[in-house]
Amino acid sequence: MKYAVIDRGDTLSKQLANQFIQHANSKGLQHNQQEPNIVISIGGDGTLLKAFHKYISQIDHISFVGVHTGHLGFYADWKADELELLLEKMCTIEPTIVKYPIANIELVTKSGTFHYSALNEFTLKSVDNTMVAQVNINGEQFEMFRGDGIVISTPSGSTAYNKSLGGSIVHPSIESLQITELASINNLVYRTLGSSVLLPKHHYCDIISMKQQRVQVSVDHVSTMFNDVVSIKCFVSDQKVQFARYRPFPFWNRVRNAFIGIDSIT
Ligand code: NAP
Repeated sequence: MKYAVIDRGDTLSKQLANQFIQHANSKGLQHNQQEPNIVISIGGDGTLLKAFHKYISQIDHISFVGVHTGHLGFYADWKADELELLLEKMCTIEPTIVKYPIANIELVTKSGTFHYSALNEFTLKSVDNTMVAQVNINGEQFEMFRGDGIVISTPSGSTAYNKSLGGSIVHPSIESLQITELASINNLVYRTLGSSVLLPKHHYCDIISMKQQRVQVSVDHVSTMFNDVVSIKCFVSDQKVQFARYRPFPFWNRVRNAFIGIDSIT
């Protein structure tokens, strides 16, 4: 097994990464940062997002394992004090590979076309004034959006930015994308649906810029400013991200633990 380690960069995560590498090598695992089969992300969910983007060109051949140096996360399901246990399991059992959908984005600007993949979400935000964009679903006009922006999230990203915006939490076995509004203007003149919308895998959505406007385009944690966006197509990717599970940790348990807490259940 060839493994790579990505850490958050803080002292604890770096220490744990060094410790993991030392112990893994002594057990005969091969450290290979360039072409790993397994990527161990040490830090938090944000660290796993970075690891995903670092290895995006190899994701068909890589499985991720997340270690959280704080509370357990959505992508990071091992705690800092469980590194030895994780290593033992890696050396003795075959993991279950779970696959989560990711989003593909085709961004057309006056200066070229760009392709991105997102693990959590893609966000389009106004910078100066109200953003105006036509939203099409499957090639037909759905609504004219006016407001702060639009978030298109994956099922596993539904617990992140999407949740803060009142979007639904979607189980990652449902191959879909969720469109959520950021402060849409709704009055007698302007109207959007207001609810978030879930698109199945065989549907797609286009966001068409309706004026010369400066927008911030974010793909997970990476943001870029554009002033010449023409349109953006969003659809569920044919590729999936893979996680190696050495023990079960059901999605709804993560949701409960993160947002409700076990102690509050009586
Ligand atoms: P960040 O500080 O790395 O992340 C913000 C928070 O989101 C962190 O607590 C992170 O957990 C958590 N998180 C990341 N992925 C998650 C997931 N799938 N489910 C639940 N929580 C998740 O911020 P960033 O670098 O700007 O952007 C990374 C992500 O932050 C974005 O993809 C977006 O989803 C989220 N975000 C949320 C809001 C909001 O809720 N208002 C605003 C902007 C961005 P860890 O502490 O474990 O890393």
